Amino acid sequence: MIRTDVLVVGAGFSGATAARLVAEAGFRVHVIDRRAHVGGNAWDTVDASGIRIHPYGPHLFHTDAERIVAFLSRFTGWAPYEHRVLASVDGILVPVPINRTTINRLYGLDLDEAGVAAFLNACVSTAIRKQRARTSC
Ligand SMILES: Cc1cc2nc3c(=O)[nH]c(=O)nc-3n(C[C@H](O)[C@H](O)[C@H](O)COP(=O)(O)OP(=O)(O)OC[C@H]3O[C@@H](n4cnc5c(N)ncnc54)[C@H](O)[C@@H]3O)c2cc1C
Repeated sequence: MIRTDVLVVGAGFSGATAARLVAEAGFRVHVIDRRAHVGGNAWDTVDASGIRIHPYGPHLFHTDAERIVAFLSRFTGWAPYEHRVLASVDGILVPVPINRTTINRLYGLDLDEAGVAAFLNACVSTAIRKQRARTSC
């Protein structure tokens, strides 16, 4: 028999955070999970060959809130991660999501921000004209 004030079912981010906050408010908390670990779907582990794996899918942590980083850092370390994505378009490597460099590299241009806006507006106008020409009798 376990004596507790609060029973939390699920030790993922939601359950674990709720349990911690309730415990810090002075209540006795018991957390259960049908899995053998905390962290829910965000849990990762190191396999037999020493490689970090994410059994439930890869998880990246994003926030601009210092207090969230500070809170989580009480319970976890961090694995640095760098995310660089390039698309290959006809053999040309360009940044994705699309930005000014993507446009300039793909079209051989050297536009500034205003120039890219004008270029995209011109593309939209051309596309609309072509669409109208196709749909008119
Ligand atoms: C493939 C994938 C990639 C993702 N990538 C990101 C990412 O990069 N960044 C990001 O911020 N978020 C990501 N997410 C979302 C993130 O996983 C969820 O927002 C987060 O895990 C939700 O936490 P949770 O505690 O609500 O639920 P969960 O993580 O699902 O935890 C619920 C827990 O409750 C347990 N449980 C459920 N029912 C019972 C029961 N009846 N009895 C006992 N235990 C029970 C489960 O075993 C589980 O451990 C991703 C999700 C997926 C699926």
